Amino acid sequence: MTDVDICSAKGCQQPATWELLWNNPKLHTPDRRKTWLACDDHKQSLSDFLGARQFLKDVVPH
Ligand SMILES: [Zn+2]
Repeated sequence: MTDVDICSAKGCQQPATWELLWNNPKLHTPDRRKTWLACDDHKQSLSDFLGARQFLKDVVPH
């Protein structure tokens, strides 16, 4: 893999090491998954953001 994917957190330029898979039931069908990429520093805050809205479905290594 040659591409480096960057963390989705605002202003962050670090390479992503995690994928947060989420779904907003108001916008998406239940089997749809949106993906946010996260570095180690932002995995927790992004997970908390999605988790607080009950959107978070899964977190997997990127
Ligand atoms: Zn980050």
